[in-house]
Amino acid sequence: MIPNEIPNLIGGEPTPAVSGEWIDKLRPADGALLCRLARSGAQDVEVAVAAARAAQPEWAERTPVERGEVLRELALSLRARRDEASEIVVAETGKPLELALGETDAAVEMGLFVAGEGRRSYGRTTTASMRHRTVLTVRQPLGVAGLIMSFNTPLPNLAWKIFPAVFCGNAAVVKPSEHVPASALLFAELAHEAGVPAGVLNVVQGLGTEAGAAIVEHEEVDLVSFTGSAATGRWINETAGRRLAKVCLELGGKNALVVCDDAELENAASWALASAFSNAGQRCAAASRIVVFDDVYDKFRERLVEGARSLEPEPVISEEALERMLEAVERATADGASLLTGAERLAPGFRLAPTILEGASPSQEISRTELFGPVTLLYRVGTLAEALALVNDSPYGLTAAVHTSNLHRALRFAEKVQAGVVIVNGGTHGSEPHMGFGGVKSSGTGWREAGIEALDVYSDWKIVNLIADPALS
Ligand code: NAD
Repeated sequence: MIPNEIPNLIGGEPTPAVSGEWIDKLRPADGALLCRLARSGAQDVEVAVAAARAAQPEWAERTPVERGEVLRELALSLRARRDEASEIVVAETGKPLELALGETDAAVEMGLFVAGEGRRSYGRTTTASMRHRTVLTVRQPLGVAGLIMSFNTPLPNLAWKIFPAVFCGNAAVVKPSEHVPASALLFAELAHEAGVPAGVLNVVQGLGTEAGAAIVEHEEVDLVSFTGSAATGRWINETAGRRLAKVCLELGGKNALVVCDDAELENAASWALASAFSNAGQRCAAASRIVVFDDVYDKFRERLVEGARSLEPEPVISEEALERMLEAVERATADGASLLTGAERLAPGFRLAPTILEGASPSQEISRTELFGPVTLLYRVGTLAEALALVNDSPYGLTAAVHTSNLHRALRFAEKVQAGVVIVNGGTHGSEPHMGFGGVKSSGTGWREAGIEALDVYSDWKIVNLIADPALS
């Protein structure tokens, strides 16, 4: 199912890296070698950008309806290969099959949603201050889109960028995460089978600092759309910003879930566990801060710790990530936080027992940095105002949840919390394909992915002034 060697896909052709080098990809579930991916660099990116540049004008000549039809075929072929695609994701990430199947379905839904936009590519007509004028707005593609993404949900990560970027008439150069090369190869192969012309979707495999950086620095990449960590995002914004390329950043979170004293505690505890630990906590929307009212704190803590101990630990993506998390927890306890459970390395593969700490101060490193793993922190507060102050005292602002049966508290929280998505009485999670998703502060640059909002990332609005009779102009 997964070839031993994963090449680039440039101009529709499987292409090894110019360097001839390969990178080992290990299976997170047991640490064994899974495959090797092409170690690409600036020369490979050069060829991929040229292929994209050459293919883009003809693709943009097709109508949105035609482009939507091709993308519908791609979504349907991904659905037809659901089991295979999900098995690839399981091998690359170590996540449970059930989770991978759900993600494949989500990627398909994103494709079907965007494909439907072909018949709904609305602009606006508006009035002008001068007589005999009609003014209308139309979307136009940007050209070549550089798409760089994280590993955590490989197929949705590809789908959220590729479907809208290609639908809008751009050609794309994709740099998938080096941790999930095979799902990207499958996606691109399916795209070509579905009728996406050669050169419209190119995949360059390799490391971020090599292949990824070369895309960001390339003069002919008109847009860089990136999903990943804030540190990388900052460098991308500076680098692509210097040449005034459009940049869309979807970054990390330190998402908070607040449990008020009038919450349904069982419900809140099961959402907190799922939010903190599903996908081994490797979700941008993971609840890594759980803020609990004094009156219910002890009872809630007991349920949470008990629940965490009963979970089957899922592997994290790499040995390096696991080590980084263990070191951060060690520093946190040295700085005064108390470990309630976890912080233990488990076999086989790269597994960390679900970890809960309490007593960390809001200014401590662990309270302010994203670990992107199965580690969460408990905080004690007395009032909703205190909870809001604590939640908002963060560099990030992606998602936030509150558990309460008091409508006023729910609305007050929704109004005042600094986040791109707010959930009442549920988990911290992302959106559906038809809803925009993104954050505030260091969680992004204000763009929204998914929803029709995503089309604004991958197109520019053009204003057309029409004077039907030249004699009247
Ligand atoms: P990362 O920043 O290490 O890598 C992301 C991607 O960027 C990878 O493909 C990587 O190879 C590439 N990259 C790394 N350095 C680069 C450079 N200098 N130039 C260009 N590309 C470079 O992040 P990660 O560990 O893969 O992902 C985890 C992060 O992603 C977390 O912060 C998480 O919250 C975030 N994330 C955000 C969302 C969202 O929608 N907001 C969704 C998923 C993940």
